[in-house]
Amino acid sequence: MSLPVRQSPSPSWPYRGVLTGRRLAVLGYGITGQGAVRLIRLLGGEVAVFDEHPTREQLSSLKEELGRGRIAHFAKRFDPEELAGYDLVVVSPGIDPRRPELAEARRRGAKLISELAFACRYLVARKVMVTGTNGKSTTTSLIATLLSSHGLRQPEPHRFEAHQAGNSGRALSTLVPCLGRRDVAVIEVSSFQLELSPPPAPEVAVFTNLTPEHLDRHRSFESYARVKRSLVEGMSGEGFVIHNLAYPELDRHRFPPTRARFLGFTVHPHHTLAEGAYLEGEELVVNLAGEVSHFPRHLLKLPGLHNVENALAALLVARVMGVPDETVRAVLPTFRGLPHRLELVREVGELTFINDSKATNPQSTLRALRALEPPIILLMGGRDRGASLDCLMEEIRQRCRAVVLFGEAADRLAGKLSAVGIAPVLRATDLAEAVGLAIGAARRGDTILLSPACPSFDQFSSFAHRGDTFKSIVSSLGHLSVPEP
Ligand code: ADP
Repeated sequence: MSLPVRQSPSPSWPYRGVLTGRRLAVLGYGITGQGAVRLIRLLGGEVAVFDEHPTREQLSSLKEELGRGRIAHFAKRFDPEELAGYDLVVVSPGIDPRRPELAEARRRGAKLISELAFACRYLVARKVMVTGTNGKSTTTSLIATLLSSHGLRQPEPHRFEAHQAGNSGRALSTLVPCLGRRDVAVIEVSSFQLELSPPPAPEVAVFTNLTPEHLDRHRSFESYARVKRSLVEGMSGEGFVIHNLAYPELDRHRFPPTRARFLGFTVHPHHTLAEGAYLEGEELVVNLAGEVSHFPRHLLKLPGLHNVENALAALLVARVMGVPDETVRAVLPTFRGLPHRLELVREVGELTFINDSKATNPQSTLRALRALEPPIILLMGGRDRGASLDCLMEEIRQRCRAVVLFGEAADRLAGKLSAVGIAPVLRATDLAEAVGLAIGAARRGDTILLSPACPSFDQFSSFAHRGDTFKSIVSSLGHLSVPEP
């Protein structure tokens, strides 16, 4: 089922013009920054943009906006004194607030706020926030699908919509003016967005999992975990914290004090819960205050146990927000996941090609290897963030026929794989060559999986660009004659 996309501001949105006479700055002119600019203009404020490395398209859009007077000023440099002259500085999540120019701007009196916290000030809808290391987008999307299906089945005046926003895809700033009080914003929240200024507390907070990531920015796992857990601060006694019980850093005692109610979920076998969600045999079970519902696992069409975890989290949200079981049963099989996450591209010459370009860390690649039928030819590599690959070694040994490495991280990965005697390891300069080498190493029935375990920015503009490139290489393949196993 596809969700309706609201584009125009709701007539009942009460904040139009409230920033008239104010001067605001937006740092970063990507999807998020552009959303913030649009919101500020609706709010009546004057807006300046700062972006150090605009792309050619961004520069031409900025010139046009300046020409039409929709943007008051544009500069590449983050000048602390200049920034201190604005009433508020809205910071895109890609910009590290600890940068010296921003620290200096603060010392000079600049008020900095994350785009997420800024947008939330003008949001009248209910808020469900989803955070974690992996699975945020998938879980957010499933929650929005379940809630919206329920909301759209309600008679007026109880009808409502649920929309997804946040870290990937649509900026919350663009959604804010389109939602009414009954609607729900299902917001994907990254650690970068929480770091600078926590947003107002949500009604429901979801923690999908927590493993070390972004340590280049957060310095330590503990400080990354602390930033994530800060999401529950200020939640009311009516609120719910939905957390994955498999991760010690998500243990309820590690969270800051909150009056919200904790509901755990787990896929651990034989782990039934007095309250929460779990997997019992081939059934997904939700138990809230003794009211127990069972959903056959086959209703979920996404592969892998990690997607069962995502579904358990979404089912708990659905339950606490009043979605009836019949709606869940009808909607679950229609949810086919998102592009670039274990996405089936093509079956040709008895080979199956899977695009998991969104796997930008080893943990997500681990989940992909476990979710698919071996033998697998794994395409891995990209920007080297120095992440440990130790968690992958055993799975690669057991499930992969070959590994093809590409991109900046290839040298380090090759050293790591050969040190533990995993072979064959093939090297390619780019993705097209990597696909060719993978096909050369394959036998009938194999799966060729792009699940890079690294970010894409060494050779691509984004994970989506990398995944689309893979899909177009695979789609243009002619007849393949692949040997028997
Ligand atoms: P995020 O928005 O947190 O990056 P996505 O839903 O976009 O999460 O998925 C990112 C990658 O992680 C994909 O490769 C996907 O297959 C994998 N993944 C999805 N859910 C989980 C999970 N619960 N645990 C580990 N990996 C996951």
